[in-house]
Amino acid sequence: MLRVLGMKYPVHERFYTWQGEGVHLGRAAYFVRLYGCPQACPWCDSAGTWHPAYRPASVSLLDASEITRAVAEESPDGALVVVTGGEPILFDLRPLTDELHRLGRRIHIETSGIAPLRGDLDWVALSPKPAGQRPLPEVVARADEVKIIVHEPGDIAAGLGTLAGLREDATVWLHPEWSRARDGDRAVLDAITAAVKANPRLRAGYQMHKLYRADDLDAHSDKRLVPLGGNVALGY
Ligand code: SF4
Repeated sequence: MLRVLGMKYPVHERFYTWQGEGVHLGRAAYFVRLYGCPQACPWCDSAGTWHPAYRPASVSLLDASEITRAVAEESPDGALVVVTGGEPILFDLRPLTDELHRLGRRIHIETSGIAPLRGDLDWVALSPKPAGQRPLPEVVARADEVKIIVHEPGDIAAGLGTLAGLREDATVWLHPEWSRARDGDRAVLDAITAAVKANPRLRAGYQMHKLYRADDLDAHSDKRLVPLGGNVALGY
């Protein structure tokens, strides 16, 4: 374990809110958003984690103990911890998941699955990005749920095409990319509806926290975070 002692994580932002999408929708959750992602999705909703135009002035380098202390001080027992990004799978999460488990928290990860998973995660939410690097088979096999982001109708088939080896009990969501959802893009919304009706294993999703603007209520959230597909005038 010596090689991970002193491990520091680049924390872009952290905040206490609720999970706004997927199987755990509506549950209180502390988000730890790590900096850095090589996928460069043109509609990224976390552009502050990688895009040069939205690069933050500084990123906090915190070790597992410092993050765990923040989680303990800023959220009550029972709140989930969601490690997201950026691309959190690029980091060795074992020191962090060990400390958070000692605190008694359940730990979820949101990832595009492009590297081996290092850490004891209680829930793996996979969001494949087929236009970039595809998820590793071992991460697909470990996924508890999948979120396919639908910016164009063709993204549904492309996303499903990355899921060979997915467990039968894993939930598969089709999420309209936020700018498409916000604008009520009929082509995207109708394609999701048609896909779900044709294949009842699929579920139609939505990013509910963006309607509530729930994340903004925590002082630690990065209000400068501007989704590339978002609307600056509306603040997201
Ligand atoms: S949407 Fe996710 S995977 Fe794509 S660039 Fe943004 S953080 Fe990376």
